[in-house]
Amino acid sequence: MWQRDWRSAVWAQIDEPWDLIIIGGGVTGAGILREAARLGVRALLVEQRDFAWGTSSRSSKLVHGGLRYLKEGKLRLTRNAVRERERLLEEAPGLIDPLGFLLATYKGDRPGRWTYKVGLSIYDLLALRWTHRYYSAADFEMLAPHLAPEGLRGGFRYGDAQTDDARLVLRLIQEAVADGGVAINYVAVCGLLREKGRVTGVRLREEGSGREAEVRARVVVNATGAWADRLRREVGAPPRMRPLRGSHLIFPAWRLPVAQAVGFLHPADRRPVFVFPWEGITLVGTTDLDHEQPLDEEPAISAEEVDYLLEAVRAEFPGLGLEARDVMATFAGVRPVVGSERVDPSRESRDHVIWEEAGLLTVTGGKLTTFRLIALDALEAVRSRLPGLRVPGRRTPVLNPVHLPKPEGVHLEEAQWQRLLGRYGSDAPELVAAAQAGELVPVPGLQTLWAELRWAARAEAVEHLDDLLLRRVRLGLLLPEGGRQLLPAIRAIVLPELGWDEARWESEVSAYSSLWQRAYYLPQGVAGVVPRGAS
Ligand SMILES: Cc1cc2nc3c(=O)[nH]c(=O)nc-3n(C[C@H](O)[C@H](O)[C@H](O)COP(=O)(O)OP(=O)(O)OC[C@H]3O[C@@H](n4cnc5c(N)ncnc54)[C@H](O)[C@@H]3O)c2cc1C
Repeated sequence: MWQRDWRSAVWAQIDEPWDLIIIGGGVTGAGILREAARLGVRALLVEQRDFAWGTSSRSSKLVHGGLRYLKEGKLRLTRNAVRERERLLEEAPGLIDPLGFLLATYKGDRPGRWTYKVGLSIYDLLALRWTHRYYSAADFEMLAPHLAPEGLRGGFRYGDAQTDDARLVLRLIQEAVADGGVAINYVAVCGLLREKGRVTGVRLREEGSGREAEVRARVVVNATGAWADRLRREVGAPPRMRPLRGSHLIFPAWRLPVAQAVGFLHPADRRPVFVFPWEGITLVGTTDLDHEQPLDEEPAISAEEVDYLLEAVRAEFPGLGLEARDVMATFAGVRPVVGSERVDPSRESRDHVIWEEAGLLTVTGGKLTTFRLIALDALEAVRSRLPGLRVPGRRTPVLNPVHLPKPEGVHLEEAQWQRLLGRYGSDAPELVAAAQAGELVPVPGLQTLWAELRWAARAEAVEHLDDLLLRRVRLGLLLPEGGRQLLPAIRAIVLPELGWDEARWESEVSAYSSLWQRAYYLPQGVAGVVPRGAS
C-alpha cells in the first residue's frame, strides 16, 4: 500500500487545502477517514507516532456489546455494539472472528444464575441472534477443565467476537487510501491554526526529518483519544478526559489453556475479569484505574496490577499453580473516558462524545467495536461545513467485501487464506506474490506467516522495529522475550525491504529491546521475576 518514497509523495501535496484533517491514527480516526474517503471527501489523517500506537493496539481485542454495560442499563450502547459485532462478523471474517464466552456460576454468587439468564437473553435479543445456553457443573467443567471445581453450579456459554485491533486500524486506513484518502504516521499536530477565533488548520511536524507545514482544512477533527484535552486546551475548552489504564497479562497457551473466553468476578472486588485465547496465547485482563503517568510515555502495567490479575487467575484456575514467572508478556492501554467525577473508574460511561469548540470537532470515548457508528456521527456533525457531502449509506459494508480466490499453486489452507484476506484485504494476493521461498509457512507456534513480515516491511509504512513487531504483526506479544530468538531470521527478511543498514538495525533492536522490557514485560519489583530483554 505504501511503496518506497510514499512519504515524499504525501509531503508534496500536504499543504494544499483539505476538506477534512483528522488528527489521530487510532480506530476512531481511521474509521472517520474510511467513511470520508468513501464519500469522496478530500481527507488527510495524521498520527504522531505509529498507526494504532495509542489505545487501539492495546485493547482486549473484543468485538462485543459488553454485558457490563447492559448491567448499567446502557441498552442503546449495548444494542449498537452487538449489532456492529454481527455486521463485522459477516463482513470481515479472518479479521473479526467468533469467540465463545463462558460465565461460571458458583454457590452464593451475586449476580446468580437467573440474573445472568435475563442479561444474556436481552444481550442476544438486542443482537437478533440467540447464542446462549446453560450447562450443568459436569458439562461446564468439560468446557473449561481447569476451573475451580468447589461450589461450581454450572454456567453459561454465549457468543461474542474478537479481532486484531491494530490490523483492524490498518485495514481501515488501507481501504481509505485506496479510495483516495491520505494517511501519514509519525507526523504530529503541534498547534492549531485559527482565524477569527475558529480553527482553520493545523501545524504539522514530522518525527525524524523535522519537516514542518501549515495545513488548512474546512474541518479539523480531533480524534486523539485519551490525548483529546491537549488540543481542546488550545481553544480554551476545559479538560474533560479521565484517562483510565487497563492492563493485561499474557501467558503461553500451554500454561493457561482455555478453548474459549472465561469470565468471572475477581475475588477481591467482584469486578469482571476475562481469560481468553487470542492468536495462540492466553490473555488475562483487565484492570481499570486512573492513569497518572505522562501520556507520551508508553503505558505499562504496575506491580500492583500484576498481583491483582494473578490473584484472579490463581483463584479461578487453582490447579495450574500459576506464578509471575509464567507471564510471557504484558501490555497496558489508556481508555479515553470522559470524566464525570465518579469515584469508581469502572462506573464512568464508555459511550462516545462529539464536541464542537471554536470549530474544532472532538470525537472521543466510545469503543473499538462501534468505530463505524462513531465515524458516521462525526461526519453528520460536520455536514453543514462540507457542502455537497453525500449521505452515507448505513447499510454499506463496513469493510470492502473481498472474495478473492486463493492464488493458484499456493500451498495455504483455506483458513490461512481467509486470515490473510481479513487482515490485508485486497492486498492479500500481492502479499502472497511477494513471499520468497519458505515464507508462506507460519512462524513456529503462531498463525502469522513469515511472508507477513516481508509485506509489512515493504508496504505498510513501517518506520521502526516496534511498528513491525508490536502492531503490523504481533510477534512482540506472542513470542517469549518479545521474539528475541527470531530477530536474526526477521532481520534477513525485512532489512532489504526497509533499506536499513547494519547500524540502523542495531539501534532499532536496542530501542525495541528496552521498550519491550519497560512496557511489554513485567515491571521491576514483581516477586520471583528476573529481567528479560529482547536484544
Ligand atoms: C485496556 C483496554 C481494553 C479495551 N478493550 C476493548 C474491547 O475489548 N473492545 C472494544 O470495543 N473496546 C475496547 N477498549 C476501548 C478501545 O480500545 C478504545 O475506545 C479505542 O481504541 C479508542 O480509539 P481512539 O482512536 O479514539 O484512540 P487511540 O487509539 O488512542 O488513538 C488516538 C491517537 O491519536 C494520536 N495523537 C494524539 N495526539 C496527537 C497529535 N497531537 N497529533 C497527531 N496524533 C496524535 C495518538 O498517538 C493515538 O495513536 C479498550 C480500551 C482499553 C484501554
